[in-house]
Amino acid sequence: MKSGASREPNTTEVLPQHKFDYRLLDAYLHQHLPGFGTEPETKLTVAQYRSGQSNPTFYLQKGFRAYVLRKKPPGLLLPKAHKIDREFEVQKALFSIGFPVPKPLLYCSDPSVIGTEFYVMEHVQGRIFHDFTIPGVSPAERSAIYVAVIETLAQLHSLNIQSLQLEGYGRGVGYCKRQVSTWTKQYQAAAHQDIPAMNQLSDWLMKNLPDNDNEENLIHGDFKLDNIVFHPKESRVVAVLDWELSTIGHPLSDLAYLSMFYFWPRTASLGNQSYHLQENIGIPSMEELISIYCRCRGINSNLPNWNFFLALSYFKMAGITQGIYNRYLLGNNASENNFQYANAVQPLAETGLRLSKSTALPQTDTARQLFVQTRTGQEVLIRVKQFMKQHILPVEKEVIEFCIQNENSVDKWKKPLVIDKLKEMAKAEGLWNLFLPAISGLTQVDYALIAEETGKCFFAPDIFNCQAPDTGNMEVLHLYGSEKQKQEWLEPLLQGSIASCFCMTEPDVASSDATNIECSIQRDGDSYIINGRKWWSSGAGNPKCKIAIVMGRINNKSELRHKQHSMILVPINTPGVEIIRPLTVFGYLDNLHGGHFEIHFNQVRVPATNLILGEGRGFEIAQGRLGPGRIHHCMRTIGLAERALQIMCERANQRVAFKKKLYSHEVIAHWIAESRIAIEEIRLLTLKTALSIDTLGSAGTKKEIAMIKVAAPRAVCKIIDRAIQVCGGAGISQDYPLANMYALARTLRIADGPDEVHLSAVAKMELRDQAQSLRAKL
Ligand SMILES: Cc1cc2nc3c(=O)[nH]c(=O)nc-3n(C[C@H](O)[C@H](O)[C@H](O)COP(=O)(O)OP(=O)(O)OC[C@H]3O[C@@H](n4cnc5c(N)ncnc54)[C@H](O)[C@@H]3O)c2cc1C
Repeated sequence: MKSGASREPNTTEVLPQHKFDYRLLDAYLHQHLPGFGTEPETKLTVAQYRSGQSNPTFYLQKGFRAYVLRKKPPGLLLPKAHKIDREFEVQKALFSIGFPVPKPLLYCSDPSVIGTEFYVMEHVQGRIFHDFTIPGVSPAERSAIYVAVIETLAQLHSLNIQSLQLEGYGRGVGYCKRQVSTWTKQYQAAAHQDIPAMNQLSDWLMKNLPDNDNEENLIHGDFKLDNIVFHPKESRVVAVLDWELSTIGHPLSDLAYLSMFYFWPRTASLGNQSYHLQENIGIPSMEELISIYCRCRGINSNLPNWNFFLALSYFKMAGITQGIYNRYLLGNNASENNFQYANAVQPLAETGLRLSKSTALPQTDTARQLFVQTRTGQEVLIRVKQFMKQHILPVEKEVIEFCIQNENSVDKWKKPLVIDKLKEMAKAEGLWNLFLPAISGLTQVDYALIAEETGKCFFAPDIFNCQAPDTGNMEVLHLYGSEKQKQEWLEPLLQGSIASCFCMTEPDVASSDATNIECSIQRDGDSYIINGRKWWSSGAGNPKCKIAIVMGRINNKSELRHKQHSMILVPINTPGVEIIRPLTVFGYLDNLHGGHFEIHFNQVRVPATNLILGEGRGFEIAQGRLGPGRIHHCMRTIGLAERALQIMCERANQRVAFKKKLYSHEVIAHWIAESRIAIEEIRLLTLKTALSIDTLGSAGTKKEIAMIKVAAPRAVCKIIDRAIQVCGGAGISQDYPLANMYALARTLRIADGPDEVHLSAVAKMELRDQAQSLRAKL
């Protein structure tokens, strides 16, 4: 191989058994392929791709032009195999409708040119990943690549056969049966030793054919990562290659075939790829991949016969592997290393057999089917999950230790350095300000599932700049702030360069009825003067806390109780702002989040332009602030509950008391079951609420917001309490995050308004709704 051709990756010199006369090919292409050979003095160079195992594939270079040629292999061939005219036909049909395939240019049936039939297509520039772990890219890019792959597959399966004019391309219903019998025959023809697992698998497949063996979609037949060309820089599919096994058949066969790497046996090594599926590297889980596929195709993600299709894929892969080894023995092969294939057949067959009996199939997550996330939402969720697993959960213990040790130090409000480091990383990855739809582009349903994930660790929301009270305050400024206020305070909050607090609750009045608030905000020329005592101002101890939103009574003489209050921006360093003391939560300072403070405002003067929205409009703002904010807490508590249940189950499985594992004591088994039931219930109500905010807005979702605000923390408190009980003494110690979780969940029954206030509101709305429906019936 010389010059240009040698630069193409994954190619080698043409193998001796595949050599042909390049001059004849050059002359033929010069005559039949428009644009080829405009520079006749330029030599045609040819290299062979290592990966064209079945139909030898060649890289052609003529001057500046690059092509790819695929041909039938030489020698005696199975009658229905190596149909390269079909490959050409399907690529032509797909190219014509804009599906990403290399442009097919020319088909030649004349064996006198290079010894067999062949076709030529355009060479597509891009990246091909031969290792499914895609080394050398970031986890975020890896996720995006996998999402692009699965979307492309769903796109293929959504195509209309008639529009493609490929009606006769397949052989009608019964694809699965034909597959089992074809691969059984092909395997038997190539087998060099007896592998009982192959025979058992073949029998099992034939006896367990799906009832719906009549799906007729265009399928690829060999849809895997190394048959896909990606854009050189973007995570986008630019071409799907190798259509040899394409036909009309059951689409789940492609999906299962693509999913094989999730179960790949370590002993089945083919080439230099890594076959160890590491966690935390950005590869979506099989369930996630399936859910994206189903969303794109608009089908239910409860896939029938999934174990059949996984088993079939392994059977087919074992058959292909046996065929490659057989061709190696016959000296008719594209790679020198194909002797390795001999040892892979048995583990592949055994894996197929195991999966045929597997019950560990994708779970039907009804909630996720009913409440569909957008594409961005799914992508962000995958990346947040990875980030949690890879970066946040591993340092959780370290952060808890830091908080405990730091509680009595002078630097008690400082966060451990790892928090800032993680925040920078999350920001750099674009996992930032996810709570704000205007910035993140996420719906509330999208965010619900993401917040659930971040809720699994008590400091994770902060890492993604999604921590209350900053989130609520940013929403206030975003919705109601003037341009100047946004520039001065919203921008740095969104950047994460400052933090904020919210001062409404007062020690002297029952603040669950916010019309009681007494702090005064008095106009004085171009300023307002604030006087009052506040407490439970969360986050005020954070060294970055620079701004407070203060709610107070304004002297506007309104008769209406809900028109007498305003909200105003008060920089923390304004003279007269006196930070009195931190309040403890169950005896702890909550120092990681800047604590909860009593703050006094003594003759605090701020410019009149600091008033938000206008005089007497405080309750209007409070409603806007607390709608999504309240449900965000609920979303996160579901994550807490999932984590607590996980801990509960692990511990119940580890420890033995009175000669039985803990979970064998019926009371504990019931706690586990009740916890799962409760989680499913509150998740459904949370998602229903999120969907309602997306469609009707916060104002139209008041009842659901109030209901879930009560239901979620109550249920989660119970679940964490059970988990603590199952863990015994360890459950309340620093060795588990449960004590911290409990404190958090318990306070949510008071913070943002106590349960009783929300229950009264739900009852009022229910009575109103009942009355309305009664009137409608009359
Ligand atoms: C961890 C934490 C963080 C907080 N963060 C903030 C913050 O950042 N900013 C802020 O301004 N506030 C914050 N709060 C304060 C919180 O919003 C208030 O504590 C809450 O609104 C209740 O007000 P209160 O404490 O004055 O209780 P009260 O109004 O005195 O109520 C006490 C109890 O009376 C009962 N009650 C009240 N109304 C009714 C009713 N209609 N029917 C039956 N019973 C009723 C309830 O049992 C209630 O718990 C925080 C609180 C906690 C615990």
